[in-house]
Amino acid sequence: MSGVRWEYRPGGSGFGHMQRVGDAGEYAAHTRKQEAYRAYLGHKTTCLDCGETACTAAEGLWQAYTRAKSGDSG
Ligand SMILES: [Zn+2]
Repeated sequence: MSGVRWEYRPGGSGFGHMQRVGDAGEYAAHTRKQEAYRAYLGHKTTCLDCGETACTAAEGLWQAYTRAKSGDSG
């Protein structure tokens, strides 16, 4: 498979791990999407205002995720 390589990604506690990635652009977009989604999920698990409906902050995080997902680089 061309364009696929392994990269060292620094992790927590001074420890990292190897991660299989595609080309740099693909990896960046993928990471951005994942981080946006993680931020949204992390908010939902800790936010007391988020119940059945999302609070304003959650809405913003979700929109950031959908933007990352749609590949909007702006
Ligand atoms: Zn919230």
